[in-house]
Amino acid sequence: MIKHHPSDETLFRYAAGTLEPGPRIVVAVHVGGCAICADRIGEFEAVGGTLLEEIEPAEMEADALDRVMALVDAGGSGPPKPAAAPGRPHGVGSGPGYAGVALRCRAMSTPMSCS
Ligand SMILES: [Zn+2]
Repeated sequence: MIKHHPSDETLFRYAAGTLEPGPRIVVAVHVGGCAICADRIGEFEAVGGTLLEEIEPAEMEADALDRVMALVDAGGSGPPKPAAAPGRPHGVGSGPGYAGVALRCRAMSTPMSCS
């Protein structure tokens, strides 16, 4: 029996798609096993859908679709890729691995193997 449920605010943000990835996974797993919260999210989604239907349609320029399709053709490969992560230094002695080896060598009784 589940005793702790996400708050209404969290469920609303989940339904709206504005919840951060970490909490989103937690809520998704919870909702998979909790009918109460699944129903609640269904209510929020219904409210969101109603709000969308009540929005005044916005006037668009005549060539808007053509411009979007041109952008799709130009990019073509999905969302923009994030900038490459800065490389980590690979110099000797960086990172815990090197220190571990040194400690292990010092612990050995045969000095020949470490020099
Ligand atoms: Zn729940």
